[in-house]
Amino acid sequence: MTFLRVAIPSPLRRLFDYLPPEHVNTKTLQPGIRVKVPFGRRELTGVLLEIVPETNVPLKKLKSVIEILDSAPLQPQYIRDLALWAADYYQHPTGDALLQSFPVYLRKGGEGVATHSYLWKVSPNTSIKDIPIRAHQQQALYQLIAEHPQGISKEALLAEGGQTSTLTSLEAKQLVTKYKCEYHLPDISRLLKEAPLQLNTEQENAYQTITKHHNFGVFLLDGITGSGKTEVYLQAIHEALKKGLQALILVPEIGLTPQTVQRFQNRFHVPIAVLHSNLTDKQRFNAWMHASQGEASIIIGTRSAIFTPLKRPGIIIIDEEHDSSFKQQEGFRYSARDLAVVRAHAEQIPIVLGSATPSLESLHNCAQNRYQHLTLRARAGNAIPPEFQLLDIKKLPLNNGLSSILIEQIQHHIEQGTQVLVFINRRGFAPSLICHDCGWLAECRRCDARMTLHQQPAHLHCHHCDSQRPIPLKCDHCGSRALKPVGAGTERTEQTLKELFPKTPILRVDRDSTSRKGAMAKIMERVNEGSPCILVGTQMLAKGHHFPKVTLVAILDADAGLFSTDFRGMERTAQMIIQVAGRAGRAEHSGKVILQTHHAEHPLLTLLATQGYDVFAQEELKQRHQYQLPPYQHIAIIRAEATYSGRAEGFLQSIRDQHNQIFPNIQWSGPFPSPMEKRAGVFRSQLLISSHSRPFLQHSLNHLCVNIEAHPMATKIRWSIDVDPYDMH
Ligand code: ADP
Ligand code: ZN
Ligand code: ZN
Repeated sequence: MTFLRVAIPSPLRRLFDYLPPEHVNTKTLQPGIRVKVPFGRRELTGVLLEIVPETNVPLKKLKSVIEILDSAPLQPQYIRDLALWAADYYQHPTGDALLQSFPVYLRKGGEGVATHSYLWKVSPNTSIKDIPIRAHQQQALYQLIAEHPQGISKEALLAEGGQTSTLTSLEAKQLVTKYKCEYHLPDISRLLKEAPLQLNTEQENAYQTITKHHNFGVFLLDGITGSGKTEVYLQAIHEALKKGLQALILVPEIGLTPQTVQRFQNRFHVPIAVLHSNLTDKQRFNAWMHASQGEASIIIGTRSAIFTPLKRPGIIIIDEEHDSSFKQQEGFRYSARDLAVVRAHAEQIPIVLGSATPSLESLHNCAQNRYQHLTLRARAGNAIPPEFQLLDIKKLPLNNGLSSILIEQIQHHIEQGTQVLVFINRRGFAPSLICHDCGWLAECRRCDARMTLHQQPAHLHCHHCDSQRPIPLKCDHCGSRALKPVGAGTERTEQTLKELFPKTPILRVDRDSTSRKGAMAKIMERVNEGSPCILVGTQMLAKGHHFPKVTLVAILDADAGLFSTDFRGMERTAQMIIQVAGRAGRAEHSGKVILQTHHAEHPLLTLLATQGYDVFAQEELKQRHQYQLPPYQHIAIIRAEATYSGRAEGFLQSIRDQHNQIFPNIQWSGPFPSPMEKRAGVFRSQLLISSHSRPFLQHSLNHLCVNIEAHPMATKIRWSIDVDPYDMH
């Protein structure tokens, strides 16, 4: 007899055995194919991992596989191995991890055949002159299609403002033609659409170092904003394309903008697959298949694109490698950046990690000679790096967070005809609402947190659990009507600036102001026009966009992260400041960055402002070493939550008691209530485990997870484990 051992997306850390379906010759079944299986009362898609001669499950209890979904595995073995490795390393249930490495469409059991979409091109021997002059819309659409000799999809045309009816008219006149979109192998003799730029010395050095490697190597491309990292990526990718190989590029969630994709499209004549969140499940699957079958030469995507198979892998690029979005923060808590290094090693290809503010982990890896450190210290072209000023606002009167010195500076830059960016990392009107008579604060009923006051539309909003309620007229505690907003968020700053600069357009960029489709594009259009304006926004402004006309960046509150309980607080603050600052003065204008702070004498902040990120990072690394924190220690957090206080903590305490003596070389810390113990109505607690040695930690975690799963309370408490956590909360 033979049995099928199947990985199933279940929270249980094991595989499941099934009988083969009737009339199926098990000799024809290959590991890696998807199967449909009964699981409890449901039917699930799983992945066959092994065909085994024995099982521990009593025969009576065994169920049969319902259906074999694939005749051959859709995922190459090296991707399956990567997912299995990640399941093991991140202590995540195998089946769930493995299934997450497939596109959603396949996870849901969809048929593993890619379909081709259609593209429009202008018909041969036609020209815009064939369209009546007054038919403006037809002319515009024809022009748009003509600009894409490779063809353009209907979706893209509609997104650019074209209309279906106009397209139909053009088609009826045979001026445009629909083609089946066939990905093709690129013509190696004409890969380039535009000429590469002449690299400067630093870029040339980086480019040479990366491309002279023909097998595995990790390169940290540490280059200030505007130093031309992207140009280095483009030329390194060109090298891979010349050899007929493919490139995989991962960008942060917020960085996958049309402008980013455009730069790759402008450079190369090759099929590019973009895995972005606006695709349907089927479209994502199609892109995945084109990558897998080698029909797409360049694949650009966010975190989960790390599992995209390539037929001829050539190079991997991780842009903004320090970005937190590469670490999945729930469920399968993998780091796409770290997995990318594992993947590049398995494929024996080079990998480039690029950033203006590299993570301390990557800098440490360079110091250990595991990664090669390549630096770009000059801005490409003629641009000059911005000048920093720490503005001490102690005792200064503030107008809703704006000091008069700053207001004068804003005034000055607007008068010079340039643009200003005001950064405040809090959306809403004010972070809290207080009773002036008794001091009561509007708090969330489900979290240990205050509710944020919003004016547009008016309501109180908890940013932690998303609960909302109307703004109270009276204090809950004393009934007074003297309720006052405290502090400022983007809405209030916008309002204050409108009062101060009534003639200047104020553009707010945060999650609320950009939630409508096309809203961000509109704001960007207005900024690109170039006339004076003031941009006010959150970290959404810090990434991906270039604002060549911005000459002043004002950071209203540089103090927010200085005294965080999270050991990464300072690193994150510094990265944020440098990233926001990097938006300024990229073209011929030089920029200025003003940081308002109550701690102008803070040593690390001063170091950052006067000597830059590198020097800051070296100092911060020394402190991490002194306090034995990552990257000098390896850590994992076990989190638990329960519906009443103390229960989760009790659970974690018993886990610790059970293991305290067993593992030498492991340090325990906690359990402690999480910094925000109550969140969305549950009470959360955490236990920290750390070790100097990764193998020791891994070994202990393997045992620990098995034991936790068997713990009598484990089914009544939600618990999770986070290896190499990014966020300590
Ligand atoms: P980064 O990715 O490091 O922020 P970019 O690659 O976007 O930098 O480059 C910033 C600007 O400088 C872009 O407009 C780019 O076209 C230009 N640039 C890059 N390299 C060169 C070069 N070698 N010569 C001239 N301009 C360059
Ligand atoms: Zn009151
Ligand atoms: Zn809440």
